[in-house]
Amino acid sequence: MTAHADAVLMLVGAGHAHLGVIDDWRKHGPPRGRTLLVEPLDAMLYSGMVPGWIAGEYRASELAIPLAPLVEEAGLEWHRARLVRIDPQARIAHLDNGETLAFDICSIATGGAGQASDVLGADERLLDIRPLSGFITRWQSLRETELHHRRIAVVGGGAGGVELAFGFRNSSHWRECSVTLATGSSGLLPDHAAAVRERVTDELEVQGITILREDAAIRDGALMAGGRSLEALDLIVAAVGSGAPDWPAASGLPVDEYGFVQVDEHQRVCGFEHILAAGDVARRTDRSVPHSGVHAVYTGPVLARNLRRMLAGKSPRRSYSPRFMDFYLLNTCRGESVASYRRFGLQSRWLRRVKDWLDTRWIRRFTRPAGR
Ligand SMILES: Cc1cc2nc3c(=O)[nH]c(=O)nc-3n(C[C@H](O)[C@H](O)[C@H](O)COP(=O)(O)OP(=O)(O)OC[C@H]3O[C@@H](n4cnc5c(N)ncnc54)[C@H](O)[C@@H]3O)c2cc1C
Repeated sequence: MTAHADAVLMLVGAGHAHLGVIDDWRKHGPPRGRTLLVEPLDAMLYSGMVPGWIAGEYRASELAIPLAPLVEEAGLEWHRARLVRIDPQARIAHLDNGETLAFDICSIATGGAGQASDVLGADERLLDIRPLSGFITRWQSLRETELHHRRIAVVGGGAGGVELAFGFRNSSHWRECSVTLATGSSGLLPDHAAAVRERVTDELEVQGITILREDAAIRDGALMAGGRSLEALDLIVAAVGSGAPDWPAASGLPVDEYGFVQVDEHQRVCGFEHILAAGDVARRTDRSVPHSGVHAVYTGPVLARNLRRMLAGKSPRRSYSPRFMDFYLLNTCRGESVASYRRFGLQSRWLRRVKDWLDTRWIRRFTRPAGR
C-alpha cells in the first residue's frame, strides 16, 4: 500500500458507520492529506429513536446530529451532494451536482436502499422506512393529513417492524389509530428468543395491535395477507429489510447476489485495496455481520484505524467482530422497554429509562465539542 503526504481520502455518506471516522478525526486530529466528505444531508439521523419520535417522546431535532460542527472540527472538505457513480480504477467519483472528485482512498457507507415496492408491490399509501431521511420527511407531511379509515398496517416482523407498530399505535398525531402488524410467514421476531417473543406478543395484545403471521403483498390496490384483504387502510408501513443501492454494481464494484458491496475482514472492497465499505451497503465475505445500526456504529472506529494506517502507507490491521449481537432494547412507546438478550426477555419501565439514557448519551457525544 503506497500513500503520499497529499493523499486524498473520500468518505461517502455521513451515517452510523462513518460517524466513528469523523469522530476520530475531530478527537485525535485529521491524518495527513485531505479528507473529502460526500453527503447530501445537513444532519445524521439516529434510527434508534425513530419509534419514540413517532410516538411523540422526542422532537425531530433530538434525533438529528448536525454535521456542520463535526465537519469543521474534523477538518473535512464537505461536498453536499450525492455520489452517483465511481470509477474504481481511475479513482474518480461522479456526483449528482455534476462535480467529479479525484481520490486516492475511498470509504463508502451510504446505507441500504428501500425495497418496499419490490417486495410488496406499488401503492401510493406505501411508506418505506428506508432511506430514513425520506421516511422522516414523508411521515412529517402525512401526519398532518386527514385520516379516512384510522387504520395502519406495518409489514415486517423484525425488531424494526415491532417498534414501528408500537410507535404508530401511540402516534402523537394519528391518535387512536388501529394498527395491524403483518409479520410474514417467518413470524414475529424470528431472530429473538421465545421469552422475548412472548413478552412482545403480550404487549402487542395489550395495546390492541393485531398480529398476522402471514406474508403480505399488494394486489389490485389492496394489501392482502393469508388470502385476506387488510383494507381499508390509510397507510402501509414497510419494514421489510434493507435493499442495496444500484450504483455499486453499476460502477463495477464486486457485489453479492442482492447487490451489497463485498468486503474482506478489514472492510476492503474485494479486488480494490484502496476502497473500503461498511454499514448496510457492505457485505462481509469472511463472516456474517447482520445489517444494523449497532454494527454500523461499532464498525466506525475500526474503519478509522484502518484508514489512518492506509493513509500512512500501511496495510489495515483491524477487523470488526460483533460484540453485542444478542442485546437489543425495544421501545413499547408506552413507557417501557423489552430487553432481548440471548434466551432472556425482560420488560420494565426501568429498561425504558436505560434505553433513553443510552440513546441520548450517544447523541450528546456528537453534539458536544470534542475537546481534544
Ligand atoms: C426506522 C428505522 C429504525 C431502525 N432502528 C434500529 C435500531 O433500533 N437498532 C439498530 O441497530 N438498527 C436500526 N435500524 C437500522 C439502522 O438504521 C441501519 O442499519 C444503519 O443506519 C446503517 O448505517 P449506515 O452507516 O450503513 O447507513 P446510514 O446510517 O443510513 O447512513 C447513510 C448515509 O449515506 C448518505 N448517502 C446515501 N446515499 C448516498 C450517496 N449516493 N452519496 C452520498 N451520500 C449518500 C445518507 O444521506 C446517509 O447520511 C433502523 C432503521 C430504520 C430505517
